[in-house]
Amino acid sequence: MNEQSDNNQSSRESIEDTVDKEDEESFHDLWERIKDTQLSKLDETVELLEDEKILLDDNRMEDVYTWKIVLIGEGAVGKTTLRRSFFGENFTGEYLQTIGADFATKEDTIGSKNKVKFVIWDLAGQPRFKNIRKVFYTGAQGAIFVCDLTNQDSFNNITQWISELWNNNNVGPIPFIVVGNKVDLREEGVLTISDKIINEFTIKTSQETLKRYGFGIKSIITSAKTGYNVNKAFRSLAIQLIAHERHLAKQPKQSERPRVSTKDAVLKIDSPLEK
Ligand code: GDP
Ligand code: MG
Repeated sequence: MNEQSDNNQSSRESIEDTVDKEDEESFHDLWERIKDTQLSKLDETVELLEDEKILLDDNRMEDVYTWKIVLIGEGAVGKTTLRRSFFGENFTGEYLQTIGADFATKEDTIGSKNKVKFVIWDLAGQPRFKNIRKVFYTGAQGAIFVCDLTNQDSFNNITQWISELWNNNNVGPIPFIVVGNKVDLREEGVLTISDKIINEFTIKTSQETLKRYGFGIKSIITSAKTGYNVNKAFRSLAIQLIAHERHLAKQPKQSERPRVSTKDAVLKIDSPLEK
């Protein structure tokens, strides 16, 4: 996972001066260092306060955001279905494998004055799409990592997925949320990954990312089949993205980094998958 394409290497070199050494660390390394921290030593209230401040902050001018969001995670965990559910499209139960990537946009309002537009890229999760996938991370500002609660393996590779994202988006660490999907199957008695495992992961990493990068990491349990918590998942990511943008704005050095706009990112990509 540490290897990077030549292409990616050269674009990283061009922003070398403005990228902190700390940001070069892969997510995998970060997690290796903090995973043994005892939960009892962590103070969760920091994260909650940060979220609430953003939503209740009504004295600000209206903010308008456009974000490129990528959906990541193993094949068949429900990424495409989640995106479809967020767009109000019906659940079909069919599995139509995503080839390469797909994108769609949706607008929303967070709090009373934050207009947000999600440009959602749905990436194919199968290992054979790994090289193609890297191209689509360019300019991503946030991500939704999806796992299938009925498939423990789909959560186990989370650090590799986030490293792939952070190493290939050309801006370094960006917010992501962890979605445990297919919770409807839990009600049908299917064995599922416990919420505790996922929560421990997000609480520990949040503590570190809040300190370093100004955003926390949330997890949420969803059903793309029933629509349960689907909107909440996207809105939860939006809150962390707003927190991150405000954090960057307060840091002169970091805000001078070249930021790839969504428009540029879309135009730059020559789809290798013309039909
Ligand atoms: P992707 O490869 O991650 O994009 O996965 P898909 O969205 O294509 O979904 C894979 C399969 O899981 C399909 O058969 C979906 O109908 C099914 N699926 C997706 N989300 C859910 C869910 O929340 N509950 C249930 N029961 N099935 C789901
Ligand atoms: Mg798909």
